[in-house]
Amino acid sequence: MKAFIKKHEYNHIQKHLNNLNNVYKSCVDTNIIEVTKAYTQEKILNIFTNLSDEEKKLLDISILKDSSQFDKYLNELNEYVYGMPNITKEQISKLFKKEKKLKLPNINTKDSKNVYLGWIDESILKLFIAYNMNGKLIGMTCRVPNYGSNGSHTCVLCNHTGVESDVAFVSTICKTNNMGEGSYRSMAFDLCLDSEKCNERIISIEKLEKILRDVNNINK
Ligand SMILES: [Zn+2]
Repeated sequence: MKAFIKKHEYNHIQKHLNNLNNVYKSCVDTNIIEVTKAYTQEKILNIFTNLSDEEKKLLDISILKDSSQFDKYLNELNEYVYGMPNITKEQISKLFKKEKKLKLPNINTKDSKNVYLGWIDESILKLFIAYNMNGKLIGMTCRVPNYGSNGSHTCVLCNHTGVESDVAFVSTICKTNNMGEGSYRSMAFDLCLDSEKCNERIISIEKLEKILRDVNNINK
């Protein structure tokens, strides 16, 4: 069977299973456990459309009888997970060709299953995001503020809430149709600074794609 679970879908399954596992651990009422299990099964299947019988079988969680089986199951499921296609340093350089001295990310292509690729250049306080949207590589450059604030922030991509060193209010310049001087638009939003962790939490790509479309002036 080929990998058929996208990384963010896997994160979503994991979230549902963590909730179920907590019920296993904390609840003694077998009725409640069974109802939660049925609900979780439905939620997991609803993440997908057009599953083959074989794939459905793999997503059948009736085999999870107790709490100790979850990790093994998730590890096995991870075999069928795929992330964004591999990209080369040349592609990244081309994507961010306006950056004079672009700091390239570490691309450990083999094991990494990412929804998006993100990395920070601390020296210029910029966070770079690259993403494959419908086969086309797109990106954005975000400015990270150099001041600290005490408030907490919630990442728009993965909904993780953290302090400024964790999730920051970043800004980016949007491309516009109007090429005249001084005509630019900027956008700002909260983003995880640690993209690797963000990639482990993100369960939906809707917001990421919307932001990237806005930033790159793609009307679709
Ligand atoms: Zn995040």
